[in-house]
Amino acid sequence: MHVRTRIAPSPTGFFHIGTARTALFNYLFAQKHGGQFILRIEDTDKERNTKESEEDIYAQMMWLGYAYDEKYIQSEHLEEHTKLLKRLVDTDRAYVSKEEAKDGSGRMVEVVRLRNPGKTITFDDAVRGAISFDTTELKDFVIARSVTDPLYHFAVVADDGAAQITHVIRGEEHISNTPRQILIQEALELPRPIYGHIPLILMPDRSKMSKRKHKTAVKDYRERGYLPEAMNNFLALLGWSAGEGDRELFSLSELIEHFDLARVHKSGAIFNEEKLKWFNREYLLKLTQTDFATEALGRLKDALASRVSWDGERAQALLPILRERISLWGDISELANAGEFDYYFTPPQPEKARIPDKKSDSTTALAHLTETAIRLKNVSQWTPEGIKEALWSYAEKEGRGAVLWPLRYALSGKDKSPDPFSLAVLLGQEETLSRIQTACDILNE
Ligand code: GLU
Repeated sequence: MHVRTRIAPSPTGFFHIGTARTALFNYLFAQKHGGQFILRIEDTDKERNTKESEEDIYAQMMWLGYAYDEKYIQSEHLEEHTKLLKRLVDTDRAYVSKEEAKDGSGRMVEVVRLRNPGKTITFDDAVRGAISFDTTELKDFVIARSVTDPLYHFAVVADDGAAQITHVIRGEEHISNTPRQILIQEALELPRPIYGHIPLILMPDRSKMSKRKHKTAVKDYRERGYLPEAMNNFLALLGWSAGEGDRELFSLSELIEHFDLARVHKSGAIFNEEKLKWFNREYLLKLTQTDFATEALGRLKDALASRVSWDGERAQALLPILRERISLWGDISELANAGEFDYYFTPPQPEKARIPDKKSDSTTALAHLTETAIRLKNVSQWTPEGIKEALWSYAEKEGRGAVLWPLRYALSGKDKSPDPFSLAVLLGQEETLSRIQTACDILNE
């Protein structure tokens, strides 16, 4: 079987998550069968088209890795459309009809109508099985405003025919367009492709994904720092299952290997961003140390530039914490802007009243910090274990909260932060002792 699939976005807005999912399914199917995948820009709606949207289609398809074998620009095929429309009129499969314009102006206009044989159209949908429509009530529907101005359905059918598309895999919202398109196809004596209508993307509350209410542009997800590998894995499982039990992680080449229209679901696919984040975290964890460090440090530096004086060595030491805490790259700037990393670079300004543990008091906190400093001065192995060993028995005896809270707070100036042992390692012995000293000075004031 020779396979030719296509994605046919209209450049009337940013490349949409739903279009990306449809593109992915078409790409996977074509790759799986050694066929071609075609991009067709459906730019016939002159009022709503923008160059920016068209550029965004290319940019996001490239980012997601959907390499296309051929590119068609619909508006460049107007001459062929006109030829075909003329032929339909000449052979009386369509006719030009003079009628009153629909805008109520009383003006007379010409339109091209298809002679509808008014039969029942049945097509075998690769996802949903046989679907039948009685087309009588469509009457002789309009296929063009004139022989030089085809309407949407005509253009889709003519272009699919010209590009010899074998499989039309597209969203379920196009099911009701299919009988019209098949009637046009039959009039043009074009072979019928195999249709496969994939389920709508729904939000977790089962409402439809909408541009107005939700983030629907692929570009937005990219800007927030999702990885294309995670997007693809997540999008592939929106309405399809690999048939591999509980397994959820698939690279693009594994998706190609497993892809099968028979396992596309009939009912709505739920777009759950938490799940997307989960995928993204998994893919972040798979990155090599070097790849992770390059991107993470770049973002951290950008975000902190205006807040602290940058210390590359200390930032290096932060990498394990970043890996642990983030789900997407954008989390780095979010955490940084919230001041979560400042204290690694700049000493905090502890508040006197917050230094003691809740159940303790200033005098006790001062005594514990003083003892802690003595013990830490003698640590020779400045590792979490070495530091813990120096303090643990003392903390156990005196109360963990009473000893470790003031230390952690002295180091970070925050109610929440990593444990004091990891913090101390990151800051180094000298800086740790200096921050303890500052807290003691504040308690002594
Ligand atoms: N241009 C149509 C759309 O953006 C797609 C047409 C088709 O897939 O048949 O929804």
